[in-house]
Amino acid sequence: MKTEDYMKETDTYVLHTYNRFPVVFERGSGVHLYDTDQKEYLDFAAGIAVFGLGYGNAEYNAALKDQVDKIIHTSNLYYNVPLAEAARKVVESCGMSRVFFTNSGTEAIEGAIKAARKYAWLKDRGTDHEIIAMRHSFHGRSLGALSVTGNAAYQEPFKPLIGGVRFADFNDLKSVEENITDKTCAIIMETVQGEGGIYPATREFLQGVRRLCDEHDILLILDEIQCGMGRTGHLWAWQGYGVQPDIMTCAKALGCGVPVGCFVLNEKAAANSLVPGDHGTTYGGNPLAMRAVSTVFDLFEKYHIVDHVRELTPYFEHKLDALVEKYDFLTTRRGKGFMQGLVVSGKPVGQIAARALENGLVVITAGSDVIRLVPPLIIEKEDIDEMIPRLEASF
Ligand SMILES: *Cc1c(COP(=O)(O)O)cnc(C)c1O
Repeated sequence: MKTEDYMKETDTYVLHTYNRFPVVFERGSGVHLYDTDQKEYLDFAAGIAVFGLGYGNAEYNAALKDQVDKIIHTSNLYYNVPLAEAARKVVESCGMSRVFFTNSGTEAIEGAIKAARKYAWLKDRGTDHEIIAMRHSFHGRSLGALSVTGNAAYQEPFKPLIGGVRFADFNDLKSVEENITDKTCAIIMETVQGEGGIYPATREFLQGVRRLCDEHDILLILDEIQCGMGRTGHLWAWQGYGVQPDIMTCAKALGCGVPVGCFVLNEKAAANSLVPGDHGTTYGGNPLAMRAVSTVFDLFEKYHIVDHVRELTPYFEHKLDALVEKYDFLTTRRGKGFMQGLVVSGKPVGQIAARALENGLVVITAGSDVIRLVPPLIIEKEDIDEMIPRLEASF
């Protein structure tokens, strides 16, 4: 089949929930992608902050192939080898207590919400607990996650959503405080807001929210689905803030391409929430996904991925700041580490991303006016140097 045929067939048979760019990617190597016409692209999107290790990492691929030949699935009625290894690595990496593996980010959020409600229910047997979420947040598309996603357009057609959700302004501690009641069981937020436009939490805000949670025995849920796994120059973004969540969610780069997510609980939350019968999943924690997670942790350590992100960040930021200097329509840069946004005024960001593809550069957008740069975590200086002119040509 030809490129156009793949697009036509997809558009004929796949439910139209995405307006796709007219590119059919066929293979990847390192930080480059190739389409069905063998055109090369420099990838600064990583499949939406997923492919941290880049494409075609030989050790990662070999581990998955080995696991395919051993066993792919067993169910959670039994133990399996990679589950034990992946769970230990995840839990030790964040100094928390227990992990539950899911197949996606939105399912990780569902689990976190259930754990928080159960925690509060065990205290007072109440069934009217509330959650405080943030405006401009994004936590996923399933109904529970959508209910805490601060985007009216995403929510409206699907109401009624789950009840008891109040929205506060991100980075505005007073607005969080005003929404706390004696029913509040959790405060949920991204450590760095992604889809909403790349807004890092301020240190003051996150520490303030942590303090409020401690004062009122509210669980702090930090969504690290996009900003976790080394992206900000810390393995977990909250590690750069001097706070710890009670529950953390992760997905995207957790399996570096294999669909997997998780929520992790500290001792307090783990010991006082979900028990057998409360929660489950057929696929979650399956040997193939767990082998991916386990291997990703090994390779992050072997290649010092987090240090690499931290070391290269000043150069990346310097190059992006130079663009903001140079072009009047770029109003500012926001972000942390390899999670950066260029804020655009007076030009449609979707068109810039489309033009970038024509110029052999994959970038995505965030919010209504942000060019989002979330490259594979293995990019080098030369890749940044190559990215800049391709992006400039797309303005
Ligand atoms: C992508 C994302 C989700 C949803 O993850 P899915 O795997 O798409 O369900 C949730 N929270 C954040 C912060 C995300 O970036």
